[in-house]
Amino acid sequence: MAVALSSRTARPTIASRYFASSPHRRQVPGGWGPYGTFHAREVGSPTTACGMAAIEWKVFYDQGFTAVNPQACRDCIQVLYFPAKGAATA
Ligand SMILES: [Zn+2]
Repeated sequence: MAVALSSRTARPTIASRYFASSPHRRQVPGGWGPYGTFHAREVGSPTTACGMAAIEWKVFYDQGFTAVNPQACRDCIQVLYFPAKGAATA
């Protein structure tokens, strides 16, 4: 079963300000997409949600970070969707 890398798919509000970012890219129909595992990255942030230095990585602004994609970084999902106890926002 293929999972489309579409920005139009369900995108939880909690991660809506994060975009897909990866060190490598590949050509996809209509442009470029992440190659391999991609991470969640906020606009203007030099690091990914999981803490990796990503200053030179591509950011795919037409692709929100979505946890339903199997290529999504597990650590980023953990940070965005399951924050550590005691760190939860009100
Ligand atoms: Zn990550």
